[in-house]
Amino acid sequence: MKNQIHRQNIFNARVVSNSHIPTVAIVGAGFSGSLIATHLLRNSSQPLKIKLIDRNSEFAKGVAYSSKENTDLLNVPVGKMSAFPDDSDNLLRWLESNSHSLQDLLPTPVSHRTFIPRQVYGLYIQSILEEAQNNGKNNVDLERLNHEVIAIEKINQEFLISLDNDTNFQADKVILAIGNSPSNPAQDNHNNFYNAWSGSALDNINPHADILLMGTGLTMADIVASLHSRNHLGKIYAVSRRGLSPQIHKTTSSHPPLFTLENLPLNILKLSKLIRSEIRKAQGLGYDWRSIIDSLRPITQQLWQKLPKTEQKRFLRHLVSYWDVHRHRIAPNIGEIIRAKLKSGQLTISAGRIKDYQLERDKTKVIIRPRYQSEDTVILVDRVIHCRGINNYHSLSHPLINNLQVQGLIRLNKLGLGIDTDAQGRIIDAQGQISRLLYTIGTPRRGDLWETTAIPELRRQAQTLAENIIADLEIPKVELITTPSLRQILSKIA
Ligand SMILES: Cc1cc2nc3c(=O)[nH]c(=O)nc-3n(C[C@H](O)[C@H](O)[C@H](O)COP(=O)(O)OP(=O)(O)OC[C@H]3O[C@@H](n4cnc5c(N)ncnc54)[C@H](O)[C@@H]3O)c2cc1C
Repeated sequence: MKNQIHRQNIFNARVVSNSHIPTVAIVGAGFSGSLIATHLLRNSSQPLKIKLIDRNSEFAKGVAYSSKENTDLLNVPVGKMSAFPDDSDNLLRWLESNSHSLQDLLPTPVSHRTFIPRQVYGLYIQSILEEAQNNGKNNVDLERLNHEVIAIEKINQEFLISLDNDTNFQADKVILAIGNSPSNPAQDNHNNFYNAWSGSALDNINPHADILLMGTGLTMADIVASLHSRNHLGKIYAVSRRGLSPQIHKTTSSHPPLFTLENLPLNILKLSKLIRSEIRKAQGLGYDWRSIIDSLRPITQQLWQKLPKTEQKRFLRHLVSYWDVHRHRIAPNIGEIIRAKLKSGQLTISAGRIKDYQLERDKTKVIIRPRYQSEDTVILVDRVIHCRGINNYHSLSHPLINNLQVQGLIRLNKLGLGIDTDAQGRIIDAQGQISRLLYTIGTPRRGDLWETTAIPELRRQAQTLAENIIADLEIPKVELITTPSLRQILSKIA
């Protein structure tokens, strides 16, 4: 226990002296963790220690923006990717002022509508974090720790954070900014199997290798674009349950607000019928279907929260793939690459279930049952790449999540969509209590918010969470802990 904390025996009360400098630990230094750290550095009015921890050595990039491939583009244009919710031109200004050093990476000219490489976006977030650290107040200190967090234990009103190098430290508040992949994607790579998010899925690949991509969404599109930039010649099979691939972005005029929480049915079937009929009507008036899908965005989170669990389940079973390919679209030039490869026959995208795979000498034999068919198809490939996206937390085997679950510090979302939280991102424990010490952000909040993985949602959450933490830390640090021993002492005195 820190020597700044004095225990007063008789009342079993904890008084934290004024000299105690609170520590905030942020697990994960992707976009979310880095932006929370940035806001804390900029805005904390009291002394603070921030420990930002990531198992990857490149801080501020996370899974999405660590790409080294210039063909991996953002799937949202520059105008919508500022890191700050109240400064929409921030990214464009940064690109303009760094245009010289970025000239080999950027298309020209750059405008609000440009889809820039994801690696450039990673540099942008890095520069934001660095600037906040360099310009931060003297008494707010950021320490970067390049380790995996394997356990977090609650001891009274503090946490003990254990790292994979057998060291630990104490923190007053902890934020799980663990993002898209709490388990380490690089650990999935073995034999002919690779995880698309590992950063090494295409390492040492023979240009004639035949490849199976498991999944046909955004990650599949990235891998196909990367293979294209390497002049890959082998066959690419992409398979998913429904075989749907992402739609392409197009500049559209926005549709006047159409939907409100009051006029939308809380039934998935009726909802999808209504949306489709509104799309048809809008198309009759010259609008694009995209403007109707996009008009749902401001209320998607509240709509999800209003849906009964049975309807959420139905959405996940029947509609999620349709929603994803229309809502999360790809940049036009990536769309062009995919179209051309489909046309040439190098790429096939099909619907089916992968039943089994076996290593056969240096190849992998894959058995696929095509959708609506009764006979299997067998293919032989040189590499299998997992492109299936975000894990279901119920099938996740990850030391930190298991550790938190065993202690009852977190409660998994019933549908496997992350961790239960309240409206501020405070974690709800196994007893249903809302923590004032343990928070999360982004993808782990999918159960509560559904749309919580893209920058427009994350930048707002990061700012609000940092504000709430700062406000919480400013509350006077005298805290009475009403433990049974206190009650026993008081009853004895009485
Ligand atoms: C390939 C890809 C492309 C995307 N493109 C876009 C886009 O164009 N536009 C958009 O708006 N959104 C995009 N997204 C969505 C993306 O989720 C967000 O933009 C954002 O990057 C998420 O950041 P994050 O910090 O929440 O999560 P992550 O980027 O996943 O970062 C989490 C970090 O936590 C670390 N971590 C996890 N567990 C531990 C542990 N136990 N110990 C230590 N470290 C740990 C990981 O190493 C990782 O660095 C994309 C996502 C992906 C995967």
